[in-house]
Amino acid sequence: MLRRTKQKEAILEVLRGTTSHPTADWVYNEVRKEIPNISLGTVYRNLRLLCESGEILELDLCGTLSRFDARRDNHYHFRCGKCGLVFDVDVPVDMEMDKIVAQRTGFMISYHRLEFRGVCKNCQES
Ligand SMILES: [Zn+2]
Ligand SMILES: [Zn+2]
Repeated sequence: MLRRTKQKEAILEVLRGTTSHPTADWVYNEVRKEIPNISLGTVYRNLRLLCESGEILELDLCGTLSRFDARRDNHYHFRCGKCGLVFDVDVPVDMEMDKIVAQRTGFMISYHRLEFRGVCKNCQES
């Protein structure tokens, strides 16, 4: 238990020490400097735990809740924080936002993804 806490702390330290939004593999390599015998699986597990407890932000889904969408056109999503279901949101995709970000950053924007969070109708009623 103590060891697990130490591992978690080390992972958190690594993440707080960078602004590069690193991958799990990058974190693994950094943490190994601190704890040489840590396994990649342990890093993945702790990242997921940190993600689930809200201590780190998920840029992608936490892993346990990976979802696939057959719809190919760009569209927005709403994720219910209670039941975890993901719904399509039928408002037009704001192409203007891509232009604004491109102008500000000089980046070439291909598309943006947007996910709303909250409580769905069903969960509000129950
Ligand atoms: Zn819901
Ligand atoms: Zn969708």
